[in-house]
Amino acid sequence: MNFNLADRVKNLPPYLFAELDRLKSEALKRGVDVIDLGVGDPLDPTPPHIVEAMNKATRKVENHRYPSYVGMRTFREAVAKYYEARDVTLNPDNEIIALIGSKEGIAHIHFAFVNPGDVVLVPSPGYPVFSSSTLFSGGRVVTMPLLEKNGFLPDFSKIKEEDAKLVKIMFLNYPNNPTGAVAPVEFYKEAIAFAKKYNIILCHDAAYSEVYYDKRPVSFLELEGAKEVGIEFGSLSKTYNMTGWRIGWAAGNADVIFGLGKIKTNMDSGAFSAVQEAGIVALTQSQDCVEEMRQSYRIKKDIVVKGLTEAGFHVYLPGAAFYIWFKKSEKFETSKAFSKHVLDKAGVVITPGNGFGEYGEGYMRISLTAPLPRVKEAVKRLKSVLSI
Ligand code: PLP
Repeated sequence: MNFNLADRVKNLPPYLFAELDRLKSEALKRGVDVIDLGVGDPLDPTPPHIVEAMNKATRKVENHRYPSYVGMRTFREAVAKYYEARDVTLNPDNEIIALIGSKEGIAHIHFAFVNPGDVVLVPSPGYPVFSSSTLFSGGRVVTMPLLEKNGFLPDFSKIKEEDAKLVKIMFLNYPNNPTGAVAPVEFYKEAIAFAKKYNIILCHDAAYSEVYYDKRPVSFLELEGAKEVGIEFGSLSKTYNMTGWRIGWAAGNADVIFGLGKIKTNMDSGAFSAVQEAGIVALTQSQDCVEEMRQSYRIKKDIVVKGLTEAGFHVYLPGAAFYIWFKKSEKFETSKAFSKHVLDKAGVVITPGNGFGEYGEGYMRISLTAPLPRVKEAVKRLKSVLSI
């Protein structure tokens, strides 16, 4: 037997964290008290009222059957209400679709719109699924560098005219993973105008929309003309510590939502109805738990930013998302070499920036999802073993 992987899998970029994962397992085997600040997966539990709603919903026989492909009408209404509070009017019938986590929609949208050879604009550094799903669909990735001097926003004037004419989809993601940058209104206006000019579907990934430190960042769909050019991916994962539940949505342009729905009817059978019911409770009941989540990240953000700055590092002050993006020590050639050093000397896992694309090289990402005492301990260790 010789089961060769398909070219689309063979052509994926190498998994950059494999070596770091191996070093982490080895350190754990040696009994090192490893603090993992690598993954962006909250360790705090889902708020109890949401868990309670899920418990009730699992007992309903109607929820044991196949769910609706597009999501329950009541879930889509709850998403419409979420947007109503932001002065955005959406029709739950054709402008909202439930997703099995926003990742599912991000990975499937290409199959509805991208033909082989079409261009997909992808930010670098950025969420790796934007490029891998482009490759799966036969599309061509054109990278939009996110540079610190531009506030980690892409510069549309740098996109070549011949590429722009071939673009089918452009991905944007603010609040941004991995940089923590937020996008101002003026930027969204520019993005919408660019998408209109070249007939591009703008896919805005707003997975971190509620994880901010000061003022709530404005979101793409709040801008005039947004619904004409694209959709927004929303998620309950980070807002309510529900990463394991797999529930999110896409909202906006009805034709784009229709295309995504066509793919979903052939790929999956919708999100578990009980999870959607719990999602309705999350979205429509008291949002105190969300403010508590933000407060907990604010405290950790301040500790990490202060600690790293005191150690002499260049830290980007984030506006949102639970990540700290900072420059590696110049004593090390690459971000990866620096993470290996940190794991080896301090027992702390931090992510090398190049894992998010070539323009992440030279940077490091710390996730604030570990409990406060562990974050404090990690900063103490980092300060004692590192100096710039
Ligand atoms: N978008 C970004 C930028 C992310 O970092 C993540 C997860 O880490 C997702 C989307 C996917 O979130 P989910 O599928 O849990 O909604």
